[in-house]
Amino acid sequence: MRTVLYNYQIVDADTCLNGTVVIDDKIITDVISADSFNYAQKIDLLSTGACMVLNGNGLCLTSGFVDMHAHFREPGFSQKETLESASLAAAAGGYTTVCCMANTKPPIDTMEAALALRTRACELELIDLYPVISITKKMQGNKLSEFLQSVEEQKQITYMPLLLSEDGRDIADKELYRRAMRIASVLNIPLSCHCDLDGEDAATQRVIDIAKNTNCRLHIAHVSTKKAAGIVRREKAGIKARGADGLSLTAEATPHHISLNDRLAKKLGAETNGKVAPPLRAGRDRTAIIEALKDGTIDVIATDHAPHTMFDKENGSPGFTGLETSFAVCNKVLAGENNFSLKQLLALMSANPARILGLNDRGKIAKGMRADITIIDLEKTWTVDSYNFKSRGKNTPYNGMMLTGKVLRTISDGKIVY
Ligand SMILES: [Zn+2]
Repeated sequence: MRTVLYNYQIVDADTCLNGTVVIDDKIITDVISADSFNYAQKIDLLSTGACMVLNGNGLCLTSGFVDMHAHFREPGFSQKETLESASLAAAAGGYTTVCCMANTKPPIDTMEAALALRTRACELELIDLYPVISITKKMQGNKLSEFLQSVEEQKQITYMPLLLSEDGRDIADKELYRRAMRIASVLNIPLSCHCDLDGEDAATQRVIDIAKNTNCRLHIAHVSTKKAAGIVRREKAGIKARGADGLSLTAEATPHHISLNDRLAKKLGAETNGKVAPPLRAGRDRTAIIEALKDGTIDVIATDHAPHTMFDKENGSPGFTGLETSFAVCNKVLAGENNFSLKQLLALMSANPARILGLNDRGKIAKGMRADITIIDLEKTWTVDSYNFKSRGKNTPYNGMMLTGKVLRTISDGKIVY
């Protein structure tokens, strides 16, 4: 079926124009600027049988967001979140591609487990979910995961993850870490690192040092301190200066670390509702992370969506639910308060994560791309009320906050999912 989306402000990391997007089944087949759009084309577009036409009245149309870091909680913790509630939450937040972390019960450490989860997610026909596979077996830090072992033993690969990560904990065994990095580099898969051994700053430097000469594509998860951002900036500059260097480096930051600080964490309850890993930091850290997003040191906004039951949250489980507030929070902080252009913001939320994950068919609005589209009312002001979240996790620090910019509609793989 053909879908014609006309009268939109089409924006992505490279483009900003008023015009029309044409989808045929699951592919964007045309992007027409309003200037070149004539009556004959309109008749031609609409006369091809079954056709849905949506008038955007100038709303913003962009590429579906890509989240490199979320916790979907299945298997094992469906009281916190289910595959369905998380997928609905992602769609409501404008996300069409999500990588879900491996720290489930049991952890996702095999191809079979990852494939089973992906298959179930596909059956929901909501978003495109890529389970991350853990680096070590059962996430215990002492042996490579079955997946990495099967690569070493050259067994048949039945599921290729987009990302490897032990998110939730750091890996103490350097040699094991380095071996994992070498395998990841052979597979050309990025490896996302949760750095907190001896603190975030030391751990960030440590993991970059371990990765040197492995040819690994290293990705630093949730950078939250001024020092860690400085380390990433310096190491990236070093890599650039030396040319091909045996390492490539990217990094992400979360919406909560750029919008909230340690004083608010205290107010919410440092060991309860304000608790997150890494913790909310001082104001100067928050400013430094925004600066690092602006100068390209940090490449990606990732939600670290971490839903919990109220009971778990009040008993010290770290993390915030984040998929449904991500765009509006980033819009407020980055576009509203720090003069990021909409293009810059969308690069962080869509084009850059798609590029890092090697998904060349998404991340921008162009002919031939996958029909993953998010429609946003940039003017709409709304008040966060977690009661209305699709996510089971109501643990948001933003309850009651007024935000501007609301996702109105999400199209994933050509299908309206929100
Ligand atoms: Zn983490």
